[in-house]
Amino acid sequence: MLDRIKQLEQIALALEPPAGQRGELRNDVVQYTESFLDHIHDLPAYVVTDDKGIGLYDSPISETPIDIKAALQLLRHNVDRPGLNPASGGHLGYIPGGGIYVSALGDYLADVSNRFSGLFFASPGAVRMENLLLDWMAKTVGYPANAGGNLTSGGSIANLIGIVTAREAYNLKAKDFEKSVIYLTEQAHHSVDKAIRIAGLKECVLRNVPMNECFRMNAGALEQTIIRDKKSGLQPWLVIAAAGTTDVGAVDPLEAIGDIAQRHRLWFHVDGAYGAFFVLCDEGKNILKGMEQSDSLVMDPHKGLFLPYGSGAVLVKEKKKLGNAHWYQASYLQDALRSTDELSPADLSPELTKHFRGLRLWLPLKLLGIAPFRAALEEKILLTRYFHEQIKRIDRFEAGNFPDLSVATFRYIPKVGDPNDFNERLVQEIQHDGRVFLSSTTLNGKFVIRLAVLSFRTHLNTIDLTIKILREKVRHLEESL
Ligand SMILES: *Cc1c(COP(=O)(O)O)cnc(C)c1O
Repeated sequence: MLDRIKQLEQIALALEPPAGQRGELRNDVVQYTESFLDHIHDLPAYVVTDDKGIGLYDSPISETPIDIKAALQLLRHNVDRPGLNPASGGHLGYIPGGGIYVSALGDYLADVSNRFSGLFFASPGAVRMENLLLDWMAKTVGYPANAGGNLTSGGSIANLIGIVTAREAYNLKAKDFEKSVIYLTEQAHHSVDKAIRIAGLKECVLRNVPMNECFRMNAGALEQTIIRDKKSGLQPWLVIAAAGTTDVGAVDPLEAIGDIAQRHRLWFHVDGAYGAFFVLCDEGKNILKGMEQSDSLVMDPHKGLFLPYGSGAVLVKEKKKLGNAHWYQASYLQDALRSTDELSPADLSPELTKHFRGLRLWLPLKLLGIAPFRAALEEKILLTRYFHEQIKRIDRFEAGNFPDLSVATFRYIPKVGDPNDFNERLVQEIQHDGRVFLSSTTLNGKFVIRLAVLSFRTHLNTIDLTIKILREKVRHLEESL
């Protein structure tokens, strides 16, 4: 047996490359990422390929190792080329992502030391770092000192945690579901609907509250519906508002909804996955007024703070309620659970072992300060308004509503033919061109194009380029009709 153990140890040592080998691996990886960043301004925002990364399947997982150069070659060709390039400033579709460099270094540090950030006992420092970040966010949005939260993998899980917390805070049992009413709009993100089902609440009554012409919830209609529901013996329970819808960036009237929720004792959940971090700049703070009246709030650092994917957050005004929805006991953790100076992520979320997400957020905030984030967010709002102004001035372009945050919508009315068909072709032309990426949506039966500005790499020249491309493509399409 001892011989076998020693033999196994020799094979397993491959898991621990020596310093020299680490240096070589690191050099190749750094060279790869440096070359990516050196070219980021010329790389297309979208790439159409025939193979779509299928070459990965030619190199299955096997007993035979490959070297780092071969691995990076596979990555370059199959992963970092086809499809959307979220790191590009030309990414103006959906909700653009980020990927600030300092966050990558935070991940590197977190992964090498691999601190256990789920429990205070295991890593008091990692837990305090995440709590510090959540306290900062809570303060930023105007939550009181007894607020709590959790750093999640994204907004979808954050919405789920918020809704489960609301369910437990109202002590809803299966027998209550059919009478409990949830209020939202048709513009609510689909992750909200998904979260309701995952939380076991699909039997609840869902009310689509009417919206005004700017796709914001009509607060008057909300209150009327609540009153009507109460009269008919239902139990209004939860209202879900958007601090920036994904589709058009609309901000629901948060102050009015907050007042109504308080008057009728509803839980008020705000989905600010896209928009809540705009609170950091004065312009955004004004627009988001009333967000602080919510009971729970979702905000995604991988959107509004330009972090790489994998960073969402949920805040709950009363930390106790978040804890009540996620408490647990486990005898094998008895030593760990005795150490309770501060609540741990495991006390406040479905996760136990988790990525030490705090470090990828803490490092950039500490190294760069808050100022560049504030500036970039205000820049995004102003760039969107600039685009809105410019597009209105171009013949036959029809601009959507004045943007609440950083999403603008528009369409082109062709001289002849169906506008919907034309705009669908226009988006396809732009995506194939690849210099910038725009996406589309349907509003009141109209096919419209969206411009969403949230990449930290999108600047004035990107918007000017987009307008130039739009002019080009429209001329080309009109000529080919
Ligand atoms: C992006 C988004 C979500 C989902 O967040 P993920 O981080 O993608 O899981 C939820 N709500 C809104 C409004 C969003 O924009």
